[in-house]
Amino acid sequence: MDPLTLGLAASGGTAIAGAWISARYAWWRKTAPWKWPRILMYHMVCPHRPGGRFNGLRVDPKLFDAQIRWLREDGWTFLTMRDVTKSWGTTPEKSVVITFDDGYADNLLAALPILSRYDAHATLYLVHNRFGTDWSVKKKAHHTGNELGEEPKLTDGQVRDMLESGRIELGSHTLSHPNFSRLNDKEKREELTASKQALEHAFQVPVTSFAYPFGIYMQGDETLVKEAGYSNAVTTDTGIDCTPTPKFHRLKRIKIGGKESLSAFRLRLRTGWRAWNK
Ligand SMILES: [Zn+2]
Repeated sequence: MDPLTLGLAASGGTAIAGAWISARYAWWRKTAPWKWPRILMYHMVCPHRPGGRFNGLRVDPKLFDAQIRWLREDGWTFLTMRDVTKSWGTTPEKSVVITFDDGYADNLLAALPILSRYDAHATLYLVHNRFGTDWSVKKKAHHTGNELGEEPKLTDGQVRDMLESGRIELGSHTLSHPNFSRLNDKEKREELTASKQALEHAFQVPVTSFAYPFGIYMQGDETLVKEAGYSNAVTTDTGIDCTPTPKFHRLKRIKIGGKESLSAFRLRLRTGWRAWNK
């Protein structure tokens, strides 16, 4: 009998339960060294919609408050993507970047007051043409309905309010939230360059950070993003870039889902990984 079987036989159900819990919570994963910044991905900060398909993208304001409060109390330094790119390798231990994708109105109405309460900063990735469309159909054709289309988006005035807080870096999330696996290089260049110009013109701030729509990028896209004038780009690839020379145009993030407890959040800050990976 091998040691594993012996152990299971000896402790019976407890060992099986223990194995299940360790797979479920991945607490045994190694701590990523604290010197490497954590980049967190959020979408909406609002209560869940009953029966909503996208509740995974909705973090309740109470939970968001608890997360940011914990980061503050645990000694984290809040940076923007621009800051973290410039100072990679020399950022303080326990540095974190809060990022918001798409441009939902609750980012101003619910998230910004919480960021202010704990003196935190964030990067907002705005879709330039963000009104009245549900871009989730571009990822999966079976996504019918208009749940994300109906979700209130930040008006230009609200974006200005966010920027005037001095806490928010504006980044681009393209013109139309396309699926980069379906565009040719010319179309991608247009999405990258025209969105940068339009946002810089509308809000009078430099736009040097980019987020790939749906986190989808193809071979060669990093070069296109760089050529369009962005110093960095984030994906939805899960994890923490633990290297002095990361790929700055395809950085990993930690997705903060709407259904995770505070202890799961703390675990993910430590290891980069969710409780289990689907
Ligand atoms: Zn998006």
